[in-house]
Amino acid sequence: MLKAGFLMRSKAVVQVADRHFEMQEFEVPVIGADEALLRVETCGLCGSDIEQFNGGLAKAGIISYPIIPGHEPVGIIEEIGPDAARRWGVQRGDRVAVEPNISCGFCSKCLRGSTHLCQRSDDRAYGYTPLTGERDILGAYSQYLHLKPRTILHRIPKTMPLELASMYQILASGIRWAVEVPQTGIGDSVLIFGPGQRGLGAVIACREAGARTIIVTGLAVDRHKLDLALAFGATHVIVADQEDVVERVMQITGGRGVSIALDVVPTSTHPIVQALDVVERGGSIILAGIKGPDSPLKIASDQLIVKEIRMQGVYTQTTASYEKSIAMLEQNKYDLGRLHTHSFPLEQAEEAVATLAGKFPDRKAVNVSLMPW
Ligand SMILES: [Zn+2]
Ligand SMILES: [Zn+2]
Repeated sequence: MLKAGFLMRSKAVVQVADRHFEMQEFEVPVIGADEALLRVETCGLCGSDIEQFNGGLAKAGIISYPIIPGHEPVGIIEEIGPDAARRWGVQRGDRVAVEPNISCGFCSKCLRGSTHLCQRSDDRAYGYTPLTGERDILGAYSQYLHLKPRTILHRIPKTMPLELASMYQILASGIRWAVEVPQTGIGDSVLIFGPGQRGLGAVIACREAGARTIIVTGLAVDRHKLDLALAFGATHVIVADQEDVVERVMQITGGRGVSIALDVVPTSTHPIVQALDVVERGGSIILAGIKGPDSPLKIASDQLIVKEIRMQGVYTQTTASYEKSIAMLEQNKYDLGRLHTHSFPLEQAEEAVATLAGKFPDRKAVNVSLMPW
């Protein structure tokens, strides 16, 4: 454990307001017997990072400022208390991926195994817990991260390239949202709205699950992502601002429609309306694209009834999906490194977010991560 008086410092990015990052220095925390200190090697970015930077999460009351963002860390255990080492089965020097949610372990959701739905935890999640006077480091846009007692860790082999390791969450999203929740299996037809990294993670998961038809929609500006979708196993892509999505899906499926539709598109509500039209009787619609508070949506809800469609929201990943994701990354039979396009140091966190958000179209960004060292 860290000795009192031995001062280690950590650089971290602090979001102080909407669209405003600041570099600050922190004293690394003295850890308890059931805690650890992570030396962050890489932190993946996803759509939530863009929304957090732009102020959407603060507006929705999910976070407040100041805050250290960063919820997709992989790193090396720098220090660990004896109880944590025993519980987590890891030691100083091991490489781990960290689940962002910190659950309480005692509420009814946790006791039923749905730790991702815990609502009683004080430290809600890494990257989403505001800074207090104690200046605890609970976000991974930082050189070090304080691992709290109820953290869930997954071992990552040291031989795995960091670019690959930083994708454990996007692939876990694809596995849970496109396969586990809708129970996608051999021969299924799946429509994925949105070719971003979550959509691409879903393509890979559906291919692994044995889906026969995998259709991905995107815009004309997403051409490089649609090409990646095809490279990863999508059978068809639809350019939504040039083609009629409903017509094309019905044509591809011989008029049957798809068994599963997954929406990972932010803001636009068109996919939800279109999904109701193209999902077959008894099919499933999975919603994962955050639309924001200002997007009123009119849907033909009778279709849910007449076609007995199941519609479900998904917000996060579970331990099971992380385990499968890391197993797939270790095996890497789809050459997943092709998804990773950019890494930035902490000082360029704003540029990293802008790159992922497509502010530099010529960069053709897909998977972006921060590498604090
Ligand atoms: Zn994320
Ligand atoms: Zn709980």
